[in-house]
Amino acid sequence: NAKRKPLIAGNWKLNNNHFESIKLVQQLAFSLNDADFDATEVVVLPPFTSLRSVQTLVDGDKLNIGYGAQDISQHEKGAYTGEISGGMLAKLGCSYVLVGHSERRQYHREDDAIVNAKAKAALASDITPILCLGEGLDVRKAGDQVAYTLAQLEAGVKDLTEEQVRRLVIAYEPVWAIGTGEVATPEDAQEVCGALRVRLGELYTPEASRETRILYGGSVKADNIAGIMAKSDVDGALVGGASLKAEEFVKLVRFRD
Ligand code: PEP
Repeated sequence: NAKRKPLIAGNWKLNNNHFESIKLVQQLAFSLNDADFDATEVVVLPPFTSLRSVQTLVDGDKLNIGYGAQDISQHEKGAYTGEISGGMLAKLGCSYVLVGHSERRQYHREDDAIVNAKAKAALASDITPILCLGEGLDVRKAGDQVAYTLAQLEAGVKDLTEEQVRRLVIAYEPVWAIGTGEVATPEDAQEVCGALRVRLGELYTPEASRETRILYGGSVKADNIAGIMAKSDVDGALVGGASLKAEEFVKLVRFRD
């Protein structure tokens, strides 16, 4: 997968006010160097209230750290209290946004149609959606993880063009592995990531299959990332808990060491 640059993305979730966010980005910037950024794309996903501060820091110091949001409204403007639009995120320099994270699906009842609408809203503002997919424990126990995740993929990319899909990032995040300390084995991650890639080829083109980056997420830590990244269809990691400490996140970016 030489054509696909590895991506390590930190999902900070509901952590870090804007002061704490500035501190963490500064710590990352201090530790990471040009060789790290050449080898691996580094992205952080802070809360909305930190984005302006992160933008100012990244722009002012010309940092190679990318950033984005954890959610986006499917609407561009109007009477949608509490929502944040793609246009607002683009103005803050966001390159990425999570759509369909399992915590949004679970606690905010986001279904595949909403996730698809959010992906389209992001693309309309030139922001790359990180489309999160993954089965719960019941589906895994029944052995249906591939069929379940492929169905989520098809619903998530509905009506997207080939060009849009090639820009997309997909994150396979089995729900039973998120925040539980129970990481999928490299073979489990490869099984589903490989199936997702094959389906992209069937739905679109061989190029879409070859170029779209597919991440694994779920209890990724410094001591388990290497085996997962060694798998041919895994192009990076979406990291929650282990992205909150600079030292640990830097180790993840240096997964080859
Ligand atoms: C996530 O929320 O995307 C995630 C993978 O969390 P954790 O790394 O904490 O399991």
